[in-house]
Amino acid sequence: MSQDRGFSFEFFPTKTDAGHEKLLATARQLATYNPDFFSCTYGAGGSTRDRTINTVLQLEREVKVPAAPHLSCVGDSKADLRALLTQYKDAGIKRIVALRGDLPSGMGMSSGELRYASDLVAFIRAETGSHFHIEVAAYPEVHPQARNFEDDLANFVRKAQAGADSAITQYFFNADSYFYFVERVRKLGVNIPIVPGIMPITNYSKLARFSDACGAEIPRWIRKQLEAYGDDVQSIQAFGEQVITEMCNRLLEGGAPGLHFYTLNQAEPSLAIWNNLKLSR
Ligand code: FAD
Repeated sequence: MSQDRGFSFEFFPTKTDAGHEKLLATARQLATYNPDFFSCTYGAGGSTRDRTINTVLQLEREVKVPAAPHLSCVGDSKADLRALLTQYKDAGIKRIVALRGDLPSGMGMSSGELRYASDLVAFIRAETGSHFHIEVAAYPEVHPQARNFEDDLANFVRKAQAGADSAITQYFFNADSYFYFVERVRKLGVNIPIVPGIMPITNYSKLARFSDACGAEIPRWIRKQLEAYGDDVQSIQAFGEQVITEMCNRLLEGGAPGLHFYTLNQAEPSLAIWNNLKLSR
């Protein structure tokens, strides 16, 4: 990939020491590829608060790659969010992925004082000025709760206007949905970089479940082929690598400003794609 493209890897904080060690080993391996940053997810309502903080600080200080915590507003009070922002700022963290989040069903938590990610972006700017580079989420295939594409687009624009610096998309398997989304955003006068979020394909049933929940469409031709492989994991992975690598090449050739890999704490699936991209660093 050329020097002016950004690329990054996302992790989730683990519950066990063994999982955490694996995450760090993965991060060390990926660090040798000199990414722009790592990010670490946050359980809405603060369910992973300490684990997210610890992971981010370790990635930044021990693995020595700039690390960005995800921060969601649903279920957290302004005081909670303020305390987190202060902690991150004091620790020298410079980038935050600002989200609304989804409260786990049946948790009985209050929904928090800020309703949408645009409110969180405005809050971060009001509290910390220009200290943080703020990333927000984008949905080329439409957020599952949005009334329609146009509404969702307008809500995305709101996040940029509230002060977001760049965006990472939900994953998708159809490059045209990304290009159309970016084109429409640009026509509305918003010029922030929109980086495709890339989900490597390693396991069909998990991918299908997750995609249903987050509104990512698996095109029929991909679904049929993955179904046909059944339990043949090797074939699923080889096919997945080929399909996603081709999509990434198309995205980069079409002007995508970089790639953000959803690693699920594993290095190999992202690297298998990365190592076969036409534009290499
Ligand atoms: P918003 O931008 O607030 O949008 C949510 C919905 O509300 C959309 O349908 C939007 O159209 C609508 N909306 C927005 N503003 C308004 C308004 N003013 N009036 C009416 N409707 C409005 N979840 C986690 O819990 N933790 C994570 O770490 C995490 N990381 C993520 C990282 C990325 C890159 C992505 C793409 C998603 C991530 N998510 C995470 C999932 C995300 O929290 C969910 O998709 C959530 O449902 C929406 O979050 P958002 O920030 O996009 O919300």
